[in-house]
Amino acid sequence: MIDVNLADLYRDLHQHPELAFAETRTAAVAARELRAAGFETTEGVGGTGVVGVLRNGDGPTALLRADMDALPVLEKTGLPYASTAVADREGERVPVAHACGHDVHVTCLIGAARRLAAQREGWRGTVLAVFQPAEEVGGGAEAMVDDGLFDRFGKPDVVLGQHVAPIPAGFLGVRPGPAFAAADTVRVVLHGRGGHGSRPEAAVDPVVMAAATVLRLQTVVSREIAGGDTCVVTVGAVRAGTVANIIPDDAELLISVRSYDPVVRTRALTAIERIVRAEAAASGAPRDPEVTVLSSFPAAVNDAEAAERTRAALAGVVGAERVVDPGPVTGSEDVGVFATAAGVPLVYWLLGGADPTVFAGARTFDELRHVAATIPANHSPLFAPVIEPTLDIGVAALVTATHAWLAV
Ligand code: ZN
Ligand code: ZN
Repeated sequence: MIDVNLADLYRDLHQHPELAFAETRTAAVAARELRAAGFETTEGVGGTGVVGVLRNGDGPTALLRADMDALPVLEKTGLPYASTAVADREGERVPVAHACGHDVHVTCLIGAARRLAAQREGWRGTVLAVFQPAEEVGGGAEAMVDDGLFDRFGKPDVVLGQHVAPIPAGFLGVRPGPAFAAADTVRVVLHGRGGHGSRPEAAVDPVVMAAATVLRLQTVVSREIAGGDTCVVTVGAVRAGTVANIIPDDAELLISVRSYDPVVRTRALTAIERIVRAEAAASGAPRDPEVTVLSSFPAAVNDAEAAERTRAALAGVVGAERVVDPGPVTGSEDVGVFATAAGVPLVYWLLGGADPTVFAGARTFDELRHVAATIPANHSPLFAPVIEPTLDIGVAALVTATHAWLAV
């Protein structure tokens, strides 16, 4: 039986990151480890997803979820085990790194699977270990559900999972209610009429149209969303033209929208479309713009009662004062898709992964948050969770939370 030390396993996964829906090596590692631990294991669920089932008598079923994909980011941590991987993405060679820490999630779920399998006298029921593809681009959880996850492997009574975060290792964060924001990615193509840069009167300039649209979009949150509601609208990409003396035909905007409340979400998306169309009309665009929602993540909402039950269990891992309410996170997650599809509660918590010494002197959680805002976070090329005690606590948190849901 292969029994690779978890820290070595983590470093190996970290050095071999894979992009969304291409997690073949990671999936093979997860499957190998699940089988070694005694789980009935199935690969290729929803693309590269892996499901392990461990039945241990009558009782409820807990689904434990880890996402496997990495990001097209050039790692700059300088760590001895930093990624130097590259991959093809839409015909381009891109660097790949576990800048969101999903390698932590995979490692911790493997550790938890081993421990739950080794200590079967402590619980009764069924553990469903789910290694999900493609969280970053959305669609991974949905792909597994659409591939018959619950028909083939049974329906859980609860969905549990964790995300490593730039709070100190040794802390866990659980928030009842909306915990991670809904995220929509919107692509806008503004159509102008290209021409010579010297003769704007003979063209309709999509660059100016795009510039006016970007500025006006700033009023969605500031003027149309109530002060007490949360919404973020970010134009993350503006693409148009090639050289100084040509007015291009089109301009493209990529917009990210974050929200917690479905009413706020609809209001923001409606306002964006209205502004895009009106700015195009104001510019005399020869054609209507195209507005396409490329991806949508629903908000991840923790069931309040289930979150409390799990929080109490997690307090046994790190101490009650180290299980904090991190407030709503504007990042997004598709883990809620599993819970919604099964019609069962979700509890998804933050796993502290930052070097605790950086936080020396911070006494309250507010002070910790201020320090956390100054260090590299998820998606940064410098994001570097400390291996321990992060893995140790991540494994213990999963095992303890699972015990809280399974019959003894
Ligand atoms: Zn991410
Ligand atoms: Zn992530």
